[in-house]
Amino acid sequence: MVDWSGGNDTGPAPRADAIWACVARDGRADEPVYLRNRRVAEDWLAALFEAEREAGRRVLAGFDFPFGYPSGFAEAITGQPNPFALWNWLQERIEDSPKTNNRFDLAGEINRRFGGQGPFWFNGLKRDIDGLPRRKTDYKNPFPERREAETRAKGAFSCWQLGGTGAVGSQVLMGLPVLARLRARYDAAVWPFEPLDKLVAFVEIWPSLTLGAAPEGRIKDAWQVAEIARAVSSLDPKKLDGILAVDQPEEGWIFGLGFEDDLRAAAAQPPRLSNSCFALPPGVHWTPVREALDLLNARISPVTRTTRCPVADATGHVVAEDVVAPRSNPPLPNTAVDGYGFAGGRGEGVHCLPLAEGRAAAGDRPGALHRGTAVRVLTGAALPEGVDTVVLQEDVTLQDGQIAFRGPIKPGANTRAAGEDVAAGDIALQQGTRVGAAEAALLAAVGVREVEVRERLRVAVISTGAELIEPGEAAAPGQIFDANRPMLLEVIRRLGHVPVDLGIVPDDRMALSDRLDQAATEADLILTSGGASSGDEDHVSALLKQAGAMALWRIAIKPGRPLALGVWSGVPVFGLPGNPVAAMTCTLVFARPAMARLAGEPWREPQGFEVPAGFAKNKKPGRSEFLRARLRDGRAEVFASEGSGRISGLSWAEGFVELPHEAMEIRPGTLVRYIPFGSFGL
Ligand code: AMP
Ligand code: MG
Repeated sequence: MVDWSGGNDTGPAPRADAIWACVARDGRADEPVYLRNRRVAEDWLAALFEAEREAGRRVLAGFDFPFGYPSGFAEAITGQPNPFALWNWLQERIEDSPKTNNRFDLAGEINRRFGGQGPFWFNGLKRDIDGLPRRKTDYKNPFPERREAETRAKGAFSCWQLGGTGAVGSQVLMGLPVLARLRARYDAAVWPFEPLDKLVAFVEIWPSLTLGAAPEGRIKDAWQVAEIARAVSSLDPKKLDGILAVDQPEEGWIFGLGFEDDLRAAAAQPPRLSNSCFALPPGVHWTPVREALDLLNARISPVTRTTRCPVADATGHVVAEDVVAPRSNPPLPNTAVDGYGFAGGRGEGVHCLPLAEGRAAAGDRPGALHRGTAVRVLTGAALPEGVDTVVLQEDVTLQDGQIAFRGPIKPGANTRAAGEDVAAGDIALQQGTRVGAAEAALLAAVGVREVEVRERLRVAVISTGAELIEPGEAAAPGQIFDANRPMLLEVIRRLGHVPVDLGIVPDDRMALSDRLDQAATEADLILTSGGASSGDEDHVSALLKQAGAMALWRIAIKPGRPLALGVWSGVPVFGLPGNPVAAMTCTLVFARPAMARLAGEPWREPQGFEVPAGFAKNKKPGRSEFLRARLRDGRAEVFASEGSGRISGLSWAEGFVELPHEAMEIRPGTLVRYIPFGSFGL
């Protein structure tokens, strides 16, 4: 996407109102590029088109100026109602160099053909130009003032105005000649005049159609091109087709006009991860678990979209921003018990108070009380004015319109202060909290109606291996049932994410590549199991490597051979080991906190407990070990076999014993760290 400029080169330092461009692919934008003048821009575009053509990729290039003039102008100038005739006519006449150009003179020349007062106006030069009015007051336009698209786009400028804030006229005159040359050179198709069946297509964009003000400190043009580029490249292909289905063969059209909400929704999608996001520092060999977790935490950020929803629909979602309490809980001081309310505490001894008429129950509007009297109050009632202390009904005798009770009683006893739980204006729920039962109660209590939440994280699960068949199918010798997929899908569901079952893929690179493509469109994270090491049939790691987005993390952990971490079309991939026990361990230890983070929750590691061992083991240094374990009689016992194919041991276990990276000699009674599966959220 390109933000064009009709002005001259003012130097190498990036600034507003120059030309800015930004390339995006798969919903991810590169850094915006500053192009100091039109020659630099034309060369840069040519190099881009060539490189993309070389790579076999198509380019949709957007430029922020009209591709045509109001109806009738092209024919009046060239004899044909054809926008390209006008492009070429301008291309032959516009003289452009970084420091000077002839646009105002050419505009004057055109105006003189039509009586010398229009269609163009505004002169940016000191010298007068015959036929080119400086102001709109002296102006007469023989053509329509606006194109049809501009009558629909609120705030769009007329292409006849050659200068002044927001004007676009100079960009058209100085842009169309460049596009005419690039179109010829790269056989580009121009929208909406031609079918877009070429490798390069040009579309007319207008960033202000959907974008508001740039964030503080950003150059507006640079920010806008990056936003638009990212939005357009994240559009659903069907949406894109809909936006492009326009019939306006002479004047042209603005991309996205009438589809502003779709463009905004696309822009609101969070950026995708970069290919290098899991790269490890050079020279790393075996990464300790602790370091691996810290690295992962540093590399990952939330990827799910935010949306507003009524509190009733918020459960299961992660809160996207801090939720401020609109009302205090409790909203007014009230009584915590059934009893009698009065003012102030009382010392030792017996106290009598006359009982006032009536009573205060939950839901009653608070009334007022005479000093020196008591009033009947029921649990939850707002305290009447003048009451700050309540005595329990069980501690009171009632006679002749009087209550009697024994002191001492402290001032404020048995009451709740307004806002003692949450005060209006306090943060009730912090960003990143998943809304469960308790949070639903809290949001309701403080009067929140709608919350900004994140969509749930969609996690795709793919099993890889030529030997795998669906559970229940007839098994030939050598085949095994896919055990990982049912396990992983259930873990994902338990953790509050949305599992996306993408089946089994045999050890076939093309098939796996297709399945990963599908996963990248349907999910925010992809978990594969099997094929993650560097053997002949390890196609997950081979494909990720081919895509230039692969890091093999050799994590010093048992069980769990290497973990292949990569990015496929902007979507993170966790290549888990094939052995079910290793797959489960790596999922709980590494994928779980990563999923939480991607879903917008804080990074969180499971709570472990120091308990005496019920077993003996000499642990070697150099890697962490996760033993299948359970608590019996206050001691951690471990599964008889450490073999990572023993799925029965996973079911036997109720948690892990985590042994540290260092050596450790364990005897019965030695304290070890036990992590119940519940600590992982299972
Ligand atoms: P791999 O990582 O592909 O070399 O697989 C390691 C071991 O795990 C092999 O014995 C595989 O047969 C086994 N395995 C791989 N995927 C699964 C699965 N989905 N269910 C059960 N076992 C598997
Ligand atoms: Mg395999």
